[in-house]
Amino acid sequence: MNRTASNRVSCNVCHADLQEPLFRSRGTRSVTSLARLVDGKTEVYLCRACGHVQSGALGDLDAYYASDYRILIDSDEEDQVYEVIEGKPVFRFDHQLDTLVGKVDIPAGALLLDHGCAKSATVRKLLERRKDVRPHFFDVSGDYVRFWEKMAPSDAWAVSTIRPEWHEFFDVITSFFSLEHVEDVAGVLAEIRSALKPGGTFYMIVPNLLTNIADFVVVDHVNHFTERSLERAFADANLSVTEIDTRAHRGAFVVTARRPVAEERSARAADDVDLEVEIHRIAEFWSEILKRIINAEAAVATGSRSAIYGAGFYGTYIGASLLHPDRVCCYVDQNPFLQGKSLFGKPIIAPDRLPDDVKHVYVGLNPAIARRTMGALTAWNDRGLRYTFLSE
Ligand SMILES: [Zn+2]
Repeated sequence: MNRTASNRVSCNVCHADLQEPLFRSRGTRSVTSLARLVDGKTEVYLCRACGHVQSGALGDLDAYYASDYRILIDSDEEDQVYEVIEGKPVFRFDHQLDTLVGKVDIPAGALLLDHGCAKSATVRKLLERRKDVRPHFFDVSGDYVRFWEKMAPSDAWAVSTIRPEWHEFFDVITSFFSLEHVEDVAGVLAEIRSALKPGGTFYMIVPNLLTNIADFVVVDHVNHFTERSLERAFADANLSVTEIDTRAHRGAFVVTARRPVAEERSARAADDVDLEVEIHRIAEFWSEILKRIINAEAAVATGSRSAIYGAGFYGTYIGASLLHPDRVCCYVDQNPFLQGKSLFGKPIIAPDRLPDDVKHVYVGLNPAIARRTMGALTAWNDRGLRYTFLSE
């Protein structure tokens, strides 16, 4: 987190001083985007100057990325299902590629840099369609070199700092789900701009808090961009925004921008949506969830055991927010791929395996579907369980 000498927190985008956090997590643990627990509180701030939302960073963010953060690194093929259409899964990286080629006219023989690229799965898929494209790779971590070397010679990648010969070098720079992790937004956008040829295209995807409110409490997403803060960040970097698309990728912004050819400056007017009201509503949503967890925990008798239903994001979030996680004996999930695994040292089990002495269950599901899901769960019909839901 950017802190000034007097220990004030400043905005990652516009550098304005930030006021008191809108939201503070409970206890000393926070949840990362990979549903891991880390030490430290999550604090979420709203910048009233530019509409940016940002979270307190982990203790040592650089070390965290260089060693801990290994997104989907197990194989080339590991991928997440984006959606299922007529029974057929559409994988996330295929969707990302389709969106990219639909929006960016990649010139023949293009010099392309994937910035903050991890294993660069989307570009790997692009190369299957476009053998003429010359890919380059940059990441703060060197963990992914073994993926890059299958696609390009060693002078086509850089770790930690970009190469000086990349000045005004690229036709296209891409960034898939990377800038939400970066404290120095202005610095990174300036670096990207300088690596682009005049007229070159920058294409970026970052989470959209307003369409994916779980993003609010993910501690390693230090940035939660809004349309306003995106406009501000790009205008400050003198990158001309062509489009901010909120529909092409669920829960995310897809931003297309161009480095102006001459030294023209361009900025778009901020839109007039009452963003602050919406951000406060999200902070309220998470505060209410914490309150419910606190109350439920206080109401459970010492010595009795609870379970958490759901081993996904919301279940993990409950586990991270409990003062006495030892009083939870297990996670329950209907996903057979999760059963038999463990979360925070507790087994993940099928509903019909719930131990007899468990009388209370935290429902770790998206509140929008939680009551319906539990109502349909016949395995527990005669158990007389008490449920704690995360919302009314
Ligand atoms: Zn700001």
